Amino acid sequence: MASKDNKSNRQLKTSPCSSPLERSSTTSPSVIIIGAGFAGVTAARALHDASFQVVLLESRDRIGGRVHTDYSFGFPVDLGASWLHGVCKENPLAPLIGRLGLPLYRTSGDNSVLYDHDLESYALFDMDGNQVSQDLVTKTDLVRQEFSEDMSIQRAISIVFERRPDLRLEGIGHKVLQWYLCRMEGWFAADAETISLKCWDQEELLPGGHGLMVRGYLPVINTLAKGLDIRLSHRVTEIVRRNNGVKVTVEDGKTFVADAAVIAIPLGVLKSNCIKFEPRLPEWKEAAINDLGVGIENKIILHFDNVFWPNVEFLGVVAETSYECSYFLNLHKATGHSVLVYMPAGKLARDIEKMSDEAAANFAFTQLKRILPNASSPIQHLVSHWGTDKNSLGSYSYDTVGKPHDLYDRLRIPVDNLFFAGEATSMDYPGSVHGAYSTGLMAAEDCRMRVLERYGELDLFQPVMGEDVLVPLLISRM
Ligand SMILES: Cc1cc2nc3c(=O)[nH]c(=O)nc-3n(C[C@H](O)[C@H](O)[C@H](O)COP(=O)(O)OP(=O)(O)OC[C@H]3O[C@@H](n4cnc5c(N)ncnc54)[C@H](O)[C@@H]3O)c2cc1C
Repeated sequence: MASKDNKSNRQLKTSPCSSPLERSSTTSPSVIIIGAGFAGVTAARALHDASFQVVLLESRDRIGGRVHTDYSFGFPVDLGASWLHGVCKENPLAPLIGRLGLPLYRTSGDNSVLYDHDLESYALFDMDGNQVSQDLVTKTDLVRQEFSEDMSIQRAISIVFERRPDLRLEGIGHKVLQWYLCRMEGWFAADAETISLKCWDQEELLPGGHGLMVRGYLPVINTLAKGLDIRLSHRVTEIVRRNNGVKVTVEDGKTFVADAAVIAIPLGVLKSNCIKFEPRLPEWKEAAINDLGVGIENKIILHFDNVFWPNVEFLGVVAETSYECSYFLNLHKATGHSVLVYMPAGKLARDIEKMSDEAAANFAFTQLKRILPNASSPIQHLVSHWGTDKNSLGSYSYDTVGKPHDLYDRLRIPVDNLFFAGEATSMDYPGSVHGAYSTGLMAAEDCRMRVLERYGELDLFQPVMGEDVLVPLLISRM
């Protein structure tokens, strides 16, 4: 496991603030990684394996970031990421998960963004507890095919209805459409009024459907973090870059120096300006940070002493507006534990974050009682706060209306000896664990090339993106 302090690390030792950023010719290249989420730990692993001196500074008292497996129920449940989106050999994370023998439960073979779970696995109910016909669900898909120019998804739907009044949905059909918007808002962690029509389906969806990590995501990141020098409870407040290196200051005033730094903190934290860059980041980088959106999705995890709900993967509650719709993931199907996970997104998630955990759990339970009036009360609950947690300040990034999709790439492009990683720097797989993982590898490789080119030691080290041996993933579906 990660060690909290490593006194033998010569070059990255705590230094006085005024110390020059000099590099001794006898030591190997050094790098400071900021943020021990998936991207940061991956970059640290890769550079450590390429013989760099690596120190990882993490503000929380745990690693993982938005991967957060909790064991307080006596079994693993994920408060952050829980799916491998794209159960296939092309997924950069698949070889590692396969090698660890971790089981996946495929909730869907369907790869679309809107329907991130296949239709057979749903049971949709209206607010009076009546089950909704599957036929209506399929018909609402027609509306999606009308979208063309850039605007918000919400606006696009209104236009479609103006042009094609025959597609206008009434009653239960309207509610089902709202439910799909609610699902889409969950995927983007944002409200339909703010999701860009032009960009909403730009990300590359890997084939193979969506596999739930039955034993949680933590074992994967723990494996990557093994043996690394990770300093927990080290919140970075300032990053100074000079030609000959970087100096990073943490909250208590301690400083660290190295040849380069990989910044793998969430976009929400970068937006909050709580880290001072000296000199300032270039304008194009600051613009990318400002323009890319960060949304909120949370989990309210309810543990019951018995299972009283239907044997489906999702329970949906349809309503007049997407704000009032909701859905529960049935973890019993995947893991055998009597757990439902309520997942609010966008404005609803923001509003719920203002409540106490007790009130939030009650709110979720009230939604459940609407469709299952005889539901028994939960015995335990867990509530996430990704929007207000100052270590994340949001759940994941998304394209806002009118902004180019290449903002992700601009966020990734290095500035001198500062390299950027994290889900929001992934052009192809933003908002995902495998996206964060691949940007960690990319940042490590960019950093290795720059530092080694500079010091002329290129032939000494292995490339960080070595070939992985493929091991099949263990997948089940009940
Ligand atoms: C509720 C939810 C559900 C999700 N579901 C899925 C899913 O099913 N599948 C999927 O693929 N993805 C999912 N995601 C997205 C996925 O979790 C993220 O894309 C991914 O984990 C991000 O990794 P990262 O390394 O970019 O950032 P993070 O994991 O956020 O890591 C950044 C790290 O930086 C640290 N940090 C912050 N500020 C500082 C500072 N000043 N100094 C030092 N350290 C700092 C943080 O504490 C954190 O550890 C979900 C996310 C959420 C919130």
